[in-house]
Amino acid sequence: MTFALTDEQRALKAAVYELSKQYSPEYWRDLDAKREYPEAFVSELTKAGYLAALIPQEYGGAGLGMIEAAIILEEINHSGGNAAACHAQMYIMGTVLRHGSEAQKKQYLPKIATGELRLQAFGVTEPNSGSDTTKLQTMAVRKGDRYVVNGQKMFISRVLQSDLMLLLARTTPVDQVRKKTDGLSVFLIDIRGLKGFEVRPLRMMMNHSTNALFFDNAEIPADSLIGQEGKGFSYILDGMNAERILVASDSLGDGRWFIEKAVAYSSQRVIFGKPIGANQGVQFPIAKAHMAIEAADLMRTKAAKLFDAGQPSGPEANMAKYLAAEAAWDAANACIDAHGGYGFAEEYDVERKFREARLYKTAPINNNLIMAYVGEHVLGMPRSY
Ligand SMILES: Cc1cc2nc3c(=O)[nH]c(=O)nc-3n(C[C@H](O)[C@H](O)[C@H](O)COP(=O)(O)OP(=O)(O)OC[C@H]3O[C@@H](n4cnc5c(N)ncnc54)[C@H](O)[C@@H]3O)c2cc1C
Repeated sequence: MTFALTDEQRALKAAVYELSKQYSPEYWRDLDAKREYPEAFVSELTKAGYLAALIPQEYGGAGLGMIEAAIILEEINHSGGNAAACHAQMYIMGTVLRHGSEAQKKQYLPKIATGELRLQAFGVTEPNSGSDTTKLQTMAVRKGDRYVVNGQKMFISRVLQSDLMLLLARTTPVDQVRKKTDGLSVFLIDIRGLKGFEVRPLRMMMNHSTNALFFDNAEIPADSLIGQEGKGFSYILDGMNAERILVASDSLGDGRWFIEKAVAYSSQRVIFGKPIGANQGVQFPIAKAHMAIEAADLMRTKAAKLFDAGQPSGPEANMAKYLAAEAAWDAANACIDAHGGYGFAEEYDVERKFREARLYKTAPINNNLIMAYVGEHVLGMPRSY
């Protein structure tokens, strides 16, 4: 397996970086202060076709692989931007692509590719179940040609900026199924003007457009069901490797931004008559974090290449997400330390990126559960839950 990028991939990397760099630190800082969505940036990225990288050409996308999608997200964060505003579409639409009917694919994917429809919302987490997904309580009950949805979701991002949402709900109560993973179903719902559906924005540590959702007898068409009723958990699991690889790429981009920022600042800031970066107390944490980023990059690239080759990539995708999130966090701390007090000043952007990078140790899956996965599924150790 070669880890070198092709000429096309290098050109893609440079083009995404260049587009993203046009959105200045002030642009991101201002949105962060107001907790507003980067509408102009996401629209331009969509128009350029980057967010449709994984949509096959027959449905209007670029038909590229996971490695290209990973490069796109990495370069957004590497440039100083925040790919969290638009990363989810890349892994959500995989569920529609793999398990949706031909009619659903034809109806939605071309419009998602052009940006006519936005699918950036993914409703899984609930207040009473958290990481224990199979315990979620939102119910979708079939009534004729509709499902009636009742329940609550927590921390669901980009709902107000999306036309469509992928929803995971129970269609059979957990006490009536043989396995707890049975009886969950996935729906692709049109949330524009949906009655019985309330969105309450949550102000989070970073600018993430996150919400609490309430379904009160919300009626959705029966044909919004993806695949078979009751099989939704396995459909969501199928998309997890893509999610892990892409989120790892967000973290790698963050990590590279922190390293470059820390190197530049500590090489020119003179204190006690020499650049602070000459001191090993400043230099070594930066060098160490850089090595961790490079190592995580290898794992991310291996995972993406296995994914693109249609081979099992679960262990590598999970390890990449863990390693990249931890490496980015080490880089964030080395960078903020190197900046002294300026690391905490908004105009240096370090504190904003610091807040953004921290998320990936916790979400979309927390690193404890990745370690549990590796312990139990990769190493065959006893289950903790
Ligand atoms: C900014 C943000 C955006 C988000 N966007 C979305 C979204 O768009 N869609 C969506 O569905 N969800 C979203 N989430 C939710 C996110 O995926 C959850 O926060 C996450 O899955 C954990 O659920 P929880 O917060 O209820 O934590 P809990 O499940 O209550 O866990 C709390 C902590 O306990 C620890 N823990 C729990 N169980 C174990 C165990 N068995 N072993 C070891 N440690 C354990 C973990 O360290 C964890 O961090 C978002 C979250 C945030 C913060």
